Amino acid sequence: MNARVALVGAGPGDPGLLTARALDLISRADAIYYDRLIPSSALDGARSDAELIYVGKRPGAPSMPQEEINAALVARAKRGGLIVRLKGGDPFVFGRGGEEALELRAAGIDFEVVPAVTAGIAATAYAGIPVTHRDRASAVAFVTGHEDPSKPESAIDWTALAAFPGTLVFYMGVKQLGRIAEQLIGAGRPADQPAAVVERGTHPDQRTITATLATIAEAAIAAGIKPPSITVVGEVVGLRDDLAWLEKRPLHGRSVAVTRARAQASGLAHKLRELGATVIETPTIRVTALPGDAPDLTSYDLVCLTSPNGVSCLFERLNAAGLDARALATATVAAIGPGTARALSEHGITADLIPATFVAEGLIEALRDTPVKRALIATALDARDVLPEALRQRGADVDVLALYETVAEPLDDQTLAAARAADYITFTSSSTVTFFLAAAGEAGLSHDTRVVSIGPVTTATLREHSIAPAVEAQQYDIDGLIAAIVADATG
Ligand code: SAH
Repeated sequence: MNARVALVGAGPGDPGLLTARALDLISRADAIYYDRLIPSSALDGARSDAELIYVGKRPGAPSMPQEEINAALVARAKRGGLIVRLKGGDPFVFGRGGEEALELRAAGIDFEVVPAVTAGIAATAYAGIPVTHRDRASAVAFVTGHEDPSKPESAIDWTALAAFPGTLVFYMGVKQLGRIAEQLIGAGRPADQPAAVVERGTHPDQRTITATLATIAEAAIAAGIKPPSITVVGEVVGLRDDLAWLEKRPLHGRSVAVTRARAQASGLAHKLRELGATVIETPTIRVTALPGDAPDLTSYDLVCLTSPNGVSCLFERLNAAGLDARALATATVAAIGPGTARALSEHGITADLIPATFVAEGLIEALRDTPVKRALIATALDARDVLPEALRQRGADVDVLALYETVAEPLDDQTLAAARAADYITFTSSSTVTFFLAAAGEAGLSHDTRVVSIGPVTTATLREHSIAPAVEAQQYDIDGLIAAIVADATG
């Protein structure tokens, strides 16, 4: 069988820096051999039947020896298919990709190489440090701090490196930093040249410290810098004072737990990440559609939709019955808020009515002047009955159609602990509160975590559990929730 191996760089950590080529190969691979420093979501797009083989370091244990990785790749390639060898950063920059390619060539196996953003360029860019600059550095050198232990004393020519006319970027942990700085200064590099260490470059919790070549090792130890980190030495480091941008994001350095269902969380998580937050996805609930027939919508003069889930479940039922948006042609269509209205517009329906406040009470108020004879409320099982009651009191004939129910999503202890340690925890519905607290058990919520509620109904549920939210959205939707967190974090 024909085999092909792709040596693919996954970039420095931010999933947004994966190349289109890398994502395409990941989505088609039969087998993926991956390292530790790849972005956490890099494998999300892999085929569900792909073999995923971890060959990186394990805590407290050495990495798989390179010879074993080489042998495993060659053996797997002989079985055929598309094999992706996925590495952190660029595969040919200190990634031992060259060695793996040589082995493949020797075994007569076809391969391709997919370059990627290397940590030395990415972590520095995210730290506001251009590695070259017209007036400050016309060259840049990438240097490895971990040398091959089998090499004699030192393969690095310190005199040449000290005299290098440009920026030096060292790939390594901070352990060797003191020794490197000493060697460089000893060989004539100015002791007062600016230097920086960038920890976890391009991750939301990236940290940068700056000092001089003489003091950088001490500063890194004092700051407790951990791997992965890179060190930059050169006049360009001074530009960070003017060019730092990551730290200016309003939620930089803050962690936010998102408890809503996995299927709905991505929009909120994405917006929070764009604002600089570390997002801890803690899906406590899952929405499952309830079985049932399509309702006859032509018999109602008002149809109310109380969530985007309701919209998608309603259209699933309509579509299953061979119906489409025309089923809503004769009714007034009310959406509880802009998210629900957006979901409707994806199905070709422009909501006739969206209240000013996005809760049932707001909808009742908005419907005050609309005559209603027969209404359908398409909603969740066990939804609040405020809306049907109010309409019935006005003499309307009201049907409540439960389209879906909310069930618990199992949470592992690690995720739960991460959520409890977050700076903020967001609750976007009463059910996220109830199910999160049920999962957390006695441990409950940590006092140091600021509880964020999307609006008064969710707040009331929190209060039933004796929790007073630190932050409540003024506009009861996702954008309002985000605005409230930003105001709290920056206020
Ligand atoms: N092929 C990779 C480098 C592999 S060597 C690349 O092109 O980036 C591993 C070293 O890279 C780590 O010890 C660390 O010094 C550096 N590194 C990798 N990812 C990093 C990150 N996100 N931030 C800072 N340094 C990183």
